[in-house]
Amino acid sequence: MDMREEIGCGGLETGSVDLEICAACGARRDAPRARSGVAPRVSAEDSVEEPVVVCQDCGDVRPFRRLPLLLVTGPSGAGKSTAAALLASRLSERVVVLDQDLLWIPELQDASGEHRLFRRTWLRMVSAISQNGRPVLLCGTVVPGQFEASAERALVADLHYLALVCEDEELAARLRARPPWRGWTEERIASMVNFNRWIKRSAAETDPPMSLLDTTEASVDDTAVHISSWVVNALVAGLEGGPRPSGYQPRGQEPAR
Ligand SMILES: [Zn+2]
Repeated sequence: MDMREEIGCGGLETGSVDLEICAACGARRDAPRARSGVAPRVSAEDSVEEPVVVCQDCGDVRPFRRLPLLLVTGPSGAGKSTAAALLASRLSERVVVLDQDLLWIPELQDASGEHRLFRRTWLRMVSAISQNGRPVLLCGTVVPGQFEASAERALVADLHYLALVCEDEELAARLRARPPWRGWTEERIASMVNFNRWIKRSAAETDPPMSLLDTTEASVDDTAVHISSWVVNALVAGLEGGPRPSGYQPRGQEPAR
């Protein structure tokens, strides 16, 4: 018996989970081209259009799972990482929870401060995870527009933002209490407090707008509960507005039988 049969994947379609590599000819797409189109397996009476990736080299057209991306953002000290630790177990049936700092390595940073390669790499990672049928909840500082500027934006459905914020004094106190190796000088703290204010002031006007959660008085558990219900609502909203992301149905939303 050959290895493929032994591990139970004999009849598996051998597409790539990395959407930037063509599953037909192996060409690498620097800027993925994705569009909505009727995939071959969609029947005539089913009007749902599935997104497809198109290979510029060989013309291969292949449907893929375009799932929403959920982002928990906000200034340092507002509770993103602490909440992320609880969310991974709480939400494991619905999303894959990841901390954005996982890929915060020098090779992906740039002097301009835009960190395009960092954002592009994350979108590529998120879309690869999405091919397994679960959307990603990414915890880390980002503002609307940064992910949207990349060509890889085409690989995910709607981006949803929840910004954790906090009272200025409390935020400063939390950052001052961090160990010295993290380098929270008064200057950096002041700049983070300004960012905290900017988020609160601008949340309704960014594109897309950000939901706000003030964690000043909230326990870590309260914060995790609030984020969990935001996740559920965002996934349901994603299904109600626009075409249904292919291959994805959140738990609890199955049609009545
Ligand atoms: Zn190709």
